[in-house]
Amino acid sequence: MRKVISVVNQKGGVGKTTTVMNLAAALAVDARVLMIDIDPQGNSSSGLGVNKFQVKYTLYDVLTDNIDIEDAILKAEGESVDIIAGDYNLAGLDIEFINLPNKDQILKNKMKSILKYYDYCLIDCSPGVNILNINALNASDFILIPMQCEYYALEGLTQVMRTFRLVKENTNKNLSIIGILFTMYDCRTNLSNAVISEVEGYFKNIPFETKINRSIKLCEAPSYGLSCIKYAVSSKGAQQYLALAEEVKERIKMFENA
Ligand code: ATP
Ligand code: MG
Repeated sequence: MRKVISVVNQKGGVGKTTTVMNLAAALAVDARVLMIDIDPQGNSSSGLGVNKFQVKYTLYDVLTDNIDIEDAILKAEGESVDIIAGDYNLAGLDIEFINLPNKDQILKNKMKSILKYYDYCLIDCSPGVNILNINALNASDFILIPMQCEYYALEGLTQVMRTFRLVKENTNKNLSIIGILFTMYDCRTNLSNAVISEVEGYFKNIPFETKINRSIKLCEAPSYGLSCIKYAVSSKGAQQYLALAEEVKERIKMFENA
């Protein structure tokens, strides 16, 4: 089954981490979910309650052959999601990997042995293009693209689509776009609605029907080390991510049957 989803956008601050944390928690309501944090900022790890300074092993140790990937899997307190944490050491891998053959396939090769334990695996990417993000795309079946409903977001989207095509044509023919997710949506602004019409017009059925509104609960939840699904399940943000999880499941089925 196709189950690995990278949440990507080269643009920073568009809601990648918020989406990974909450979609992971929403899917974990009735499935086995692994979240891999490949961002040196480690935001999704700390957001789901992993204390960076108490973690013995992170993804860095896995990718640099210090430990087996099984030994880097953490159980989040208060969440049903398993986590492989990211930390600042990951920032050096562009240099450390420079002379390695297959340096863009390391994550994929490491993940092979643990995929059988999970129904879904979500990868939180960092902004920009770097060797880790390319590793994530090569290890994935799908990309999910969160985008903020603002003017510059359209440029960001063009860049993501370019990277997607390059990876699909060259190193991962299996890669598909599971959807574009509008985040921090404010239906009262003309700009939000204009950006959405433009993207929906151009990309037809790719945007998800579910949109994520601006929500203070989504911002607060990580400071408690929780997803919004655990922190405030009845909030609009949590309910929208639960709806997104249903759409994601349906789309995966659609791809499987295609
Ligand atoms: P980076 O590129 O730095 O990794 P990112 O794409 O992962 O950023 P997030 O960290 O998820 O983006 O979000 C950026 C900021 O926007 C955070 O402060 C987050 O709390 C806030 N945010 C994300 N989604 C929402 C939302 N739906 N409503 C309100 N605030 C949000
Ligand atoms: Mg992030």
